[in-house]
Amino acid sequence: MDTTSLTGKELAAALRADTEQRAAALTAQGTAPRLVLVVANDDPASGWYVKSLQRAAAKLGITCDTTDLGADSTADAIRAELEKLSSDPAVDAVMLQTPLPPGVGLNDVSSAIAAGKDVDGVSPLSLGLLASGLPSFPPATAEAVVELAKHHGIPLAGRHVAVVGRSNVVGKPLAQLLLAENATVTVCHSRTTDLPAVTSAADIVVAAVGRAGLISGEHVREGAVVIDVGTNEGPDGGIVGDVDAASVAGKAGALSPVPGGVGPVTTALLMRHVVQAAETARTA
Ligand code: NAP
Repeated sequence: MDTTSLTGKELAAALRADTEQRAAALTAQGTAPRLVLVVANDDPASGWYVKSLQRAAAKLGITCDTTDLGADSTADAIRAELEKLSSDPAVDAVMLQTPLPPGVGLNDVSSAIAAGKDVDGVSPLSLGLLASGLPSFPPATAEAVVELAKHHGIPLAGRHVAVVGRSNVVGKPLAQLLLAENATVTVCHSRTTDLPAVTSAADIVVAAVGRAGLISGEHVREGAVVIDVGTNEGPDGGIVGDVDAASVAGKAGALSPVPGGVGPVTTALLMRHVVQAAETARTA
């Protein structure tokens, strides 16, 4: 069977073009949309991600500042900074980078981000709004999975989707977004018994685990759609997904590549959220 590649580049480019136009319109009215990244670590991967967000924002006419609190920050200091940014009218959007300092959990601090500025949907309020079907920013990675499927004309309503991974940033919010699309959702995790049997029953399998190659041909039924959210360091230093593409290709009907699938759409959606937050704040 031919396996279609669910590339995200074309969709990401279309999203960026729209965002750039909207950012320019906001700038013409007064000030550019402004995102502030809050960092409290000295992790190289986080540093790389911050630089990639800064580059993405700059290309679209979005101001992107970074506040570095240091890797030994306390939960109180991080909360205080997030509260300050949340009440600053000159800031449209706030993103807290992970990892956080040892002993500080995301749930200890993320509720200090105002929902209207929480462009990556990490706070308990944003997640609760999403689960309740109320307006909120969904985590961009979870939204990217749904948007990538729609872009490639993959129907979701009535389909059985197995999501492997139940984190607050990907698996759980993705389950909510898929339910909102009328999919039938099974959420799998490290305690799921007989994962291949569960995922093989699904029309669509989403891998969001963080283990290179965990999802292989035995997890996928003939013709199923497979979307790979994973970003793991490969043996040669490049990025590899959670799907063993060699054994899934030829069996799946479609597979998203890593890199070049969910990743570029995620960044493009984050930037769109920044512009949406600014538009809402300025018409309030
Ligand atoms: P996470 O917080 O570590 O969660 C991993 C999930 O996978 C957990 O729910 C865990 O189950 C489950 N899991 C672990 N081993 C498993 C196994 N053997 N079988 C079934 N489930 C298993 O990771 P995350 O933050 O959700 O990220 C997941 C992946 O997505 C990572 O590779 C990450 O780098 C990537 N990611 C990509 C983007 C992007 O833009 N492309 C953005 C964010 C994340 P338990 O809950 O039982 O522990």
